[in-house]
Amino acid sequence: MATNYTVPQMVHPHDDSHTYRFCPRCGGPLDRRAVKATEPERPVCTRCGFVFYIDPKIAVGTIIRSESGRLVLVRRAIEPGYGKWVFPGGYVDRGEPLTSAAIREAREECGLDIRLDALVNIYSYPGRAPVIVVYAATAIGGTLAVDDEQLEAAELESSAIPWDELAFPSTHEALRDYLDGQRHPIPAAAPLAPWRAKR
Ligand SMILES: [Zn+2]
Repeated sequence: MATNYTVPQMVHPHDDSHTYRFCPRCGGPLDRRAVKATEPERPVCTRCGFVFYIDPKIAVGTIIRSESGRLVLVRRAIEPGYGKWVFPGGYVDRGEPLTSAAIREAREECGLDIRLDALVNIYSYPGRAPVIVVYAATAIGGTLAVDDEQLEAAELESSAIPWDELAFPSTHEALRDYLDGQRHPIPAAAPLAPWRAKR
């Protein structure tokens, strides 16, 4: 059952797909194989042939203007970025619309009900799994609070943003873009086509 799992060449240093050893479908050993000549090698089950595509992870974040006109940031109580500042956000659940995830995460992470006003931008980085969709939002209710993933939440003047203590490159870039006035319309959620709708 031993598989030859040396770290492969020709993959990006942050591609962690070689750390997966067993097939999630049948438990058989995975091996790296070229599924298509033009694509990177992928983990493939040697027993059932399942191709284990390691997909990007979609995250949402919201830059929230509070009722006092300040920006809401939270300080992380978890790695990565423990102790650093970020705007509220998190991973989108499979099947969850982006805008619903953004509103849910804001409520969970800082206790605020928000209205999404615009799309600031979408951020992705070579070799990094997350793709981060960042919205501009306005607080419309709730009370500033934290859950177990934050050390504190604060409303800050834009001049008081702790630029040297931000958690991620996307935090820095999105706050810059936001303060530069970058706004895009939020794409309307397309209804499911009739032949795709649940019966
Ligand atoms: Zn399998």
